[in-house]
Amino acid sequence: MNKTLAPALAAALLLCGTAEAVEIRVGIRLGTPSFRLRTDGQVFVRDLNSGRRYLLVERSPYEITPVGGLVRVAGETLGPEISLEPRDGDLGVKINGVFYRGRLAVKAAPGGLLNVVEHLDMEDYLEGVLPVEMSPGSPLEALKAQAVASRSYAMRRLSPSRDYDVTADVNSQVYNGRNNVNARIRTAIEKTRGQVLTYKGTIVTAYFHACCGGHTASSTAVWGEKASKPLYGVKDPFCSSSRHSNWQLYIPERDLLSFIQKQGSTALQLKRVRVAKKDKSERALSIAFDTENKTHYAEGSAMRSAFGNSDFRSTYITSVSPTSGGWLFKGRGWGHGVGMCQSGAAAMANKGRDYRRILRHYYPGASITVRK
Ligand SMILES: [Zn+2]
Repeated sequence: MNKTLAPALAAALLLCGTAEAVEIRVGIRLGTPSFRLRTDGQVFVRDLNSGRRYLLVERSPYEITPVGGLVRVAGETLGPEISLEPRDGDLGVKINGVFYRGRLAVKAAPGGLLNVVEHLDMEDYLEGVLPVEMSPGSPLEALKAQAVASRSYAMRRLSPSRDYDVTADVNSQVYNGRNNVNARIRTAIEKTRGQVLTYKGTIVTAYFHACCGGHTASSTAVWGEKASKPLYGVKDPFCSSSRHSNWQLYIPERDLLSFIQKQGSTALQLKRVRVAKKDKSERALSIAFDTENKTHYAEGSAMRSAFGNSDFRSTYITSVSPTSGGWLFKGRGWGHGVGMCQSGAAAMANKGRDYRRILRHYYPGASITVRK
């Protein structure tokens, strides 16, 4: 552990930007008790309370901890909020193997915890989203469609009244610092710089998912939100050859009983499991469990959460049948099904469709607009 915290002698950091630059704030650690980082290149620590600035030693580990509502860096107690500012062009700060090149705001949070929020340019943020949200080997036009969708989604999440705009996990879109950026991803972002999807003058919350299985879902059916035309759901002939187009999952009867018992059922035996109610894309809104006493109904989305989104891949259930002490669920697609189907987008790109055509297919009625 390096205890040196030398005061900076360098001139004030000149923050420059262009008129169209949009900053996004990503909650990368929320409510963490402490964390370790490693500097890679020059990193300044600014105490936002006193305005004093320090230089951390390059390529060194530091521990950041909260103490009585203040933030302590390498044994030095600073104010309630500090900022870690990598020098432009340097790799920045590494936390748990992930590089963050933006400015990191570290703030003492209630309960002796810390919140770490990265402030960075929207276009740089996308470099940390695309490699994890879409296979980096995807065709360029599909990556461009993804860049526009991810940018639109993130723009809709900007909320100045809160401490951060998005989280780095699946509750927003997954962001993993700026690792694994390849040339094709950079090109996809650069070629669509500033472009977002709009409908009647409003940016579309451009949801996306791995594979729809033949029909995308409406955001109303999935989340109960009021959907605009681009998010009503469309037929998708393009993802049928995807390896994600079909799935099956065996669930032992005792696990299904335990699931419905947690929801208040007293049943001890299942007679039949069936889809009780579907949305217009054929996804299960409600699943019925006929038992030895009465029928228990569970939401399709609750089953996905309970049995794991990567095993119970979608609510697009095509059959449920009894088999050797349990039930075999078969279904189509992977993910919530709203917005762009990434498997279909890749297939469309492979057939020579450009990203505008891909976006028009999955978000019908939306226009591509450059946000200034
Ligand atoms: Zn699809």
